[in-house]
Amino acid sequence: MSNLNLGLIYLLMPILMWVVLARLRSPVVALWCLGSLLGAGALLLAELFAFIPPWINAPMVNLLEFTSLLSSIQALRLDQGVPWRFRWMAAVSLGYLVVFEICREVYALGTYRLALVPLVELVLVLQVVGWAWRIARQQKSAGAVTIAGSHLLLSVGVFLVLVQLFFPRGGVPNCPRDSSGLTDTLGMLASLAGDVGFIGLALERSLTQWLDAASKQARLEERQLLGNQLAHLDRQRGFGLVAASLAHELNQPLTAILASAQAARRGTAADRLDRVQSLELLDKIILNTRRLSEVTGRIRSFIRPAEPHQGPVDLEKVTRQMLEMVEPDLQHQGVQVAFAAEGSPVLVQGDAIQLSQVVLNVLRNALEAVQLVPDPFIQIQLNRSADKAVLSIRDSGPGLDPGQADRIGTPYFTTKPDGLGLGLSIATAILQQHQGSLTLRNAEGGGACVDIRLPLRAVGGALP
Ligand code: ADP
Repeated sequence: MSNLNLGLIYLLMPILMWVVLARLRSPVVALWCLGSLLGAGALLLAELFAFIPPWINAPMVNLLEFTSLLSSIQALRLDQGVPWRFRWMAAVSLGYLVVFEICREVYALGTYRLALVPLVELVLVLQVVGWAWRIARQQKSAGAVTIAGSHLLLSVGVFLVLVQLFFPRGGVPNCPRDSSGLTDTLGMLASLAGDVGFIGLALERSLTQWLDAASKQARLEERQLLGNQLAHLDRQRGFGLVAASLAHELNQPLTAILASAQAARRGTAADRLDRVQSLELLDKIILNTRRLSEVTGRIRSFIRPAEPHQGPVDLEKVTRQMLEMVEPDLQHQGVQVAFAAEGSPVLVQGDAIQLSQVVLNVLRNALEAVQLVPDPFIQIQLNRSADKAVLSIRDSGPGLDPGQADRIGTPYFTTKPDGLGLGLSIATAILQQHQGSLTLRNAEGGGACVDIRLPLRAVGGALP
């Protein structure tokens, strides 16, 4: 196959590359294709020497070859983010042309003039090798290795031409273009291999980018899924908390209802109940049933969060209502209750049902704490302190185990066989919503004491 035919094939390469890499076109691809195109142009022009005057043909061929390699180097440099300035490249190309022409004039056909072209070519080809090798190492790219390898082969060919020039066989230096058909063929093959390598490099790069993007997307989706799962779990936990709270809250009024109903049944059966006593028991049943429906209503609103009903809350009234709720237990356990309240209502701002729940939880704990102690008692104090209402509920139970003090009040911590470990957490959460706090401490003289602090309602607020 003649060089002309090879040149035509070579001319197809940049076009082919441009088409193959249609989706991956970039300035780097464009520069590499341009390099190939210029190289093919140089080759074709060299083959047409018979039809073009040598004073045009020779400098044009050399300029095309020079700029072809310069473009390839620039493509690789740009890929690495260190491109040359295009103005500088144009100036160097022009300078090369001038030097080439001067050499031609001054040295005629001397060795130095003949050596200039392969020498410059060698330097440029080695540049391509260097940059391609750098990319190959960085990105472990077989395509870049192919570029480096093919151009290294080419540089060996050019080097042989130089050797041939300086140490000619017949003692007379030859014009490389006439004598180095080998270099041209080698050059074309190396360039073709380089182009194939470049396509490989671009495809590898896009595959890597695609894999990166795919793995990023997968990570994102995984995170989203995890987030959804967490949100779901959190909701489940929330429902779990509600369910646990429900069981916890419903137990007291249900027990009270059962106790009142049993007392009414026993009394009626034995014909021992008068009208007033019957009505009292029925009122308790009604009160506790209302309490039940309030609790279920609150739970419902917890599941479907609605604005809690905010208003003035009389803490003494709330506490007395809750004492009434636990009265059957108090009586059953023989617990003495002392309630020292302020003379006037201590008002706080908040949701009466939620605050009742807090007091109930604390009373329930106190009741459970005094279960096994002789002469059990519960002391309740309601005071104003600065701008706070302080409700202290002290019991005569065993108090807090110092070894467990820091865990008490954390969700699910319980020392009771049938405990849920949620009462204090729920109470604390409710109080925090009301800008209040709950502290549990060992009281002086034994037993535990819970202090509930809530901001006093601003003066001027009236009871509904
Ligand atoms: P539960 O009552 O289901 O255990 P709580 O959150 O109400 O859940 O209470 C957590 C733990 O705090 C109790 O198990 C108990 O060890 C301790 N505790 C709460 N109140 C008192 C109290 N008045 N006296 C002694 N320990 C208490």
